Amino acid sequence: MFGWLGWQGFMAPFDKFHDECGVFGIYGHDSASAHAALGLHALQHRGQEGAGIVSYDGKQFYNERSLGLVGDHFNDEKIIAQLKGRSAIGHVRYATTGGTTLRNVQPLFAEFDFGGLAIAHNGNLTNATALKRELVGRGAIFQSTTDTESIIHLIATAREPRSMVPPATADPSTVLRIIEALKQVIGTYSLVALTQHFLLGARDPYGVRPLVLGKLDGALILASETCALDILGATFVRDIEPGEIVIIDQNGLKSLKPFLAVPSKFCVFEYVYFARPDSQVEGTNVYHTRQRIGAELAREQPADADVIVPVPDSGTPAAIGFAQAAGIPFELGIIRNHYVGRTFIEPAAQIRHLGVKLKHNANRATLEGKRVVLVDDSIVRGTTSIKIVDMVRNAGAKEVHMRVASPPTTNSCFYGVDTPKRSDLLASSRSIEQMRQHIGVDSLAFISLDGLYRATGLPGRDAKQPQFCDACFSSEYPIQLTDFNSGTEPSQLSLLAERG
Ligand code: SF4
Repeated sequence: MFGWLGWQGFMAPFDKFHDECGVFGIYGHDSASAHAALGLHALQHRGQEGAGIVSYDGKQFYNERSLGLVGDHFNDEKIIAQLKGRSAIGHVRYATTGGTTLRNVQPLFAEFDFGGLAIAHNGNLTNATALKRELVGRGAIFQSTTDTESIIHLIATAREPRSMVPPATADPSTVLRIIEALKQVIGTYSLVALTQHFLLGARDPYGVRPLVLGKLDGALILASETCALDILGATFVRDIEPGEIVIIDQNGLKSLKPFLAVPSKFCVFEYVYFARPDSQVEGTNVYHTRQRIGAELAREQPADADVIVPVPDSGTPAAIGFAQAAGIPFELGIIRNHYVGRTFIEPAAQIRHLGVKLKHNANRATLEGKRVVLVDDSIVRGTTSIKIVDMVRNAGAKEVHMRVASPPTTNSCFYGVDTPKRSDLLASSRSIEQMRQHIGVDSLAFISLDGLYRATGLPGRDAKQPQFCDACFSSEYPIQLTDFNSGTEPSQLSLLAERG
C-alpha cells in the first residue's frame, strides 16, 4: 500500500509548484474558532498536509492540530467547542518531502516570560538553517523542523530595541520583541500570531506572500486570501502592506512600519496558479487576471485551431481568455474527476498504467478530428503534459498545440513554495523546441514575461527594478538566499528547516 505521499507520487510526481501554507486570524468574535475552521477550509488549496487552530479565551490557550484536510478534523462540533475564546489563529500546510508529521503542523505554540504565543506562517526564511545553527549553538532546543520555530526562539531571546518608541498597543514590550525577532530573519513571511493581549499580522518587507484584512460583526480578520473572508460573509478591508505589522487588540488596529522600506516583490505566480480564482490579490481579481493572461498569450502566440481546451482546473480561466481573444470556440475537452483524493484506495499493480486517466479523461466528442490548442497554467516537470497530450491524441485530435500561461519555469523557488530541484524542471535544460518534442505537441509556446506583467495591468516588466518576484522565470532572486549560497541544497534545507 502506498501512503498518501506515495499515492501522490503514483498519480503525478509533483508536476506543479505548490504553495505551502495559508494563514488565518480573528480577534473579537464569539465564534472565533468556528470561523477559523471555515476560513481555513476556504484556504485549503494552499496546503493539504495538516491544519491547526489555537484560540484564547482570556484565561488560557487551546490548541488543536491534525494531519489531513481541514474538513477531516475540524468538522466536529466537539472539537470546535473545545477551542474556546473570542480570538483564534489557524494554519493549513502543504506536504513537503520527509515532513508529514504532526510536530510540523502549525500554529506553533510556546510559553514565554510574557505568557503564551502562537504563530502561523506562510513563506520561507532563506536564512533558517543559519539561524537554527546559531540558536542551537546558544542552547535552543527545537521541537519541529519548520523554519517558523526559529522565529519563536528569536522572540524568546530578543530584547526590546531601545531605539524604537513603544507602540500605543496592548503589551508594547512583546510587540517590540517580535519586531526585533523579525528583523533578524531573511526571506518571506506572511504570518499571524496570537498572545493573551493581541492578534498580530506581519508581512515581510518585500510582501512576497499575500495577507489581507477583513471585518465581520465588528471583529477583525487576517487571512492569506479574500476567499477566506467571503466564506464567512466578512468584508474585505485592505491588503496588509509589504513590511507592515498590524496589532489588533481591544482598542482596534494599530499599524506599524518598523522595517527599512524596499521595493515590493509580490509573487507573480500567485496570479498564475496559487491563489484561488475568486480571490482579490493586491487589488486585482485573480480570475480576471488569468483571463487577461490567456488573452495576452493568444495575441503573442496565436495558433490556427478549431477548439481551445483548458487543462483543468488551473488552465481554465486562461483558456477562456485565449478563446475570447482568438475568436476560437472554447470546449471542455478534458474532464477532471474531482473525487480522486487522498482517501482513494490505490488499484492493483496490473492496472497502474491508468495513471493520469484516474484524474483526467478526454472528452472524445469535442476533440475528434479537431485541431486542438491545450492551455495550461505552467509546465514544471512536464510529466503530466506528456500524458494529457497522449490522451488528447488518442481521442482523435488531428493536431495538438500547447500554449502556456506563464513563461518557461527555469528555476526553483526558495520563497515558500514546494518546488522540484532545478534540474528536474523541464525548462531548466531544454530549448522550447526540445520541450515540444519531449511533450509531443505540434507546437509549443509560452507567454513572455513582459506579457505576463501586462496582464496584471502594468505596462511591462521594468528590467532594472522588476515589480514582482519572478525568479522562477527570470532567475533574478530579489531576496538573499543565505542558506542556499552557503552550499545547502533545497532538499537538505527541507530536512533542516521546512518552509512554513
Ligand atoms: Fe513566486 Fe518568486 Fe517563488 Fe516564483 S520564485 S514561485 S515568483 S516567490
